[in-house]
Amino acid sequence: MSKIAFVGLGNMGGPMAANLVKAGHEVRGFDLSETSVKAAAETGVKASGALAEAVSDAECVITMLPKGQHVTAVWTDLTTLIPEGTLVIDCSTIDVENARKAHELADVMNCISLDAPVSGGTGGAAAGTLTFMVGGSEKAFALGKPILEAMGKKIVHCGDAGAGQAAKICNNMILGISMIGVCEAFGLAEKLGLSHQALFDVASTSSGQCWSLTTYCPVPGPVPTSPANNDYKPGFAAALMLKDLTLSQEAAKQSGAATPLGAHAAELYAEFEKTGHGADDFSAIIQMLRGKASG
Ligand code: NAD
Repeated sequence: MSKIAFVGLGNMGGPMAANLVKAGHEVRGFDLSETSVKAAAETGVKASGALAEAVSDAECVITMLPKGQHVTAVWTDLTTLIPEGTLVIDCSTIDVENARKAHELADVMNCISLDAPVSGGTGGAAAGTLTFMVGGSEKAFALGKPILEAMGKKIVHCGDAGAGQAAKICNNMILGISMIGVCEAFGLAEKLGLSHQALFDVASTSSGQCWSLTTYCPVPGPVPTSPANNDYKPGFAAALMLKDLTLSQEAAKQSGAATPLGAHAAELYAEFEKTGHGADDFSAIIQMLRGKASG
């Protein structure tokens, strides 16, 4: 079992650190928010009042932070705090450029690094069933996999530095576009007098089948566990979908990829957030689309 420092004990990091404790690791946690540190301490994480305290003696450091600038700032601080050979893993969702910068900082420290963003949300973090999309060397992946397995059920090695973040934003661009597509289809069905259940029964077993329809159906009824049945409480907040779509569009711009539907999805989610719905589940965008209907 390893000595692990966990930095960023928020909605995702808190339960992920708790699962590392459950798996028998010794986990020291640090967060700028004292409330988050206290909550983590109740799950067996050793509370640290400073980054330096959390990482002293750590064989592995994990970061789970909001954005790229937070990750590179913490990893820069790590350059003076951790010894050569430490395994450093970032699980946040950040832009590919900052992810690669973080790997470069690790190289300067002679440390071993992985970018390992997750899919599965707070429910998956609590249940230990996250999917990890991992970028880094074969050696780093082999070292990190057993640790990630304590927090997830599927660990995929996507390639070298930054490949995990690339997979994450490509996946979530598909998700944002497909959710809007499913919402549009339900909106059209309503106008044509076709019931939600009839559209679901056909599309869920036809070529329109996709996760946004069959697991996360944006209208109440056909999939009882979807947020539509719970006043669109997240789930996966629209603000986070906008964050991921924005990352995909920045990456598309930098790499020259053509993503016209991704760009339009980002615009629609930006509009949805601007009108005060950032905290709603991302499937609630169906309500904004209905509002645009004529007649
Ligand atoms: P959160 O805001 O709940 O937690 C982030 C934590 O980082 C906060 O507690 C904050 O105080 C802490 N923090 C910020 N800067 C810090 C620093 N310099 N040192 C120490 N702590 C610091 O966010 P979250 O929902 O846990 O998400 C974390 C990451 O995971 C994000 O990149 C997000 O996009 C990604 N993600 C979230 C979900 C989700 O459903 N919430 C799903 C997949 C991926």
